[in-house]
Amino acid sequence: MSFLAALRALAQGLDGRVQNGQNPRQMMIARTLQELHAAREALGPVGFVPTMGALHAGHLTLVATAKAAGRPVAASIFVNPTQFGPKEDFARYPRDEKGDLEKLEAAGCALVWLPGVDAMYPPNSATTITIGGPALQWEGASRPGHFSGVATVVAKLFGQIRPEAAYFGEKDWQQVQVVSRMVEDLALPVRVVPVPIVREADGLALSSRNRYLSEPERKAAPALYAALTHTAQEIAAGKEVAAALHRARQSLAQAGMVPDYVALVHAQTLEPLASFAAPARLIAAAKLGQVRLLDNVPVG
Ligand code: AMP
Repeated sequence: MSFLAALRALAQGLDGRVQNGQNPRQMMIARTLQELHAAREALGPVGFVPTMGALHAGHLTLVATAKAAGRPVAASIFVNPTQFGPKEDFARYPRDEKGDLEKLEAAGCALVWLPGVDAMYPPNSATTITIGGPALQWEGASRPGHFSGVATVVAKLFGQIRPEAAYFGEKDWQQVQVVSRMVEDLALPVRVVPVPIVREADGLALSSRNRYLSEPERKAAPALYAALTHTAQEIAAGKEVAAALHRARQSLAQAGMVPDYVALVHAQTLEPLASFAAPARLIAAAKLGQVRLLDNVPVG
């Protein structure tokens, strides 16, 4: 270390100690399990935000929510191969490590875990988590193996980070229910905290994949949220559910989308509801060009 670097490190350390016992400007970055364990020792209880990177304001809201709880925040960036199907976009999933680290640092993250595939899936690993219940339908049916990949990687991340609480976006409503089910079933010592969806001004839910929408597709994309809010109002007002869902699919098709599903479901079990009964959620997935859009709204 040069004299200048040593001086800078000393100044930063002193600055941090004076403020609150840890340097708020120094985010730790762990790339190996050894580095992660050392960083975790240094931090005490943390809130955890797992991500696949290509970060946007939705992810940063998770970090802000975790931070507001008063604990240091650990985030992870790992594009998890096991939650992508063979024909899905794992290879072309957006990656921007430098930009992501800058955003996490600016958001006040204390630690970022950047594991390689070998740290998450050592060659001798032989354990996979299988989830029934809320994982079986919708995304689970359209993307076989997806929730098993999600549950397995999330369980491993929980074991590595040992967070007190973990923050998940309601953007992936079914995922929140699947992870909550796993945490309860396996008695994992972590609290799952759902965070509301962050949207563009025109209603489109923020997503790392939105960057792949062409200009006309981007203009058409808010039709998904518009259809969901309209349909949720119809259902809450007592309109027949099957007919309302049918109209929603039609309006998505009119906007140039290929709807995968639009469904009224029990908010936790994800079982379809033939008629409105709280707690309910209206969930949808639709393909717009090459991009699969996912969204959901509360009902009633
Ligand atoms: P991903 O990087 O897509 O795996 O997302 C990481 C976390 O960010 C998940 O818990 C997502 O549900 C959450 N997330 C993604 N988009 C949004 C959004 N628009 N609003 C709130 N949370 C989001």
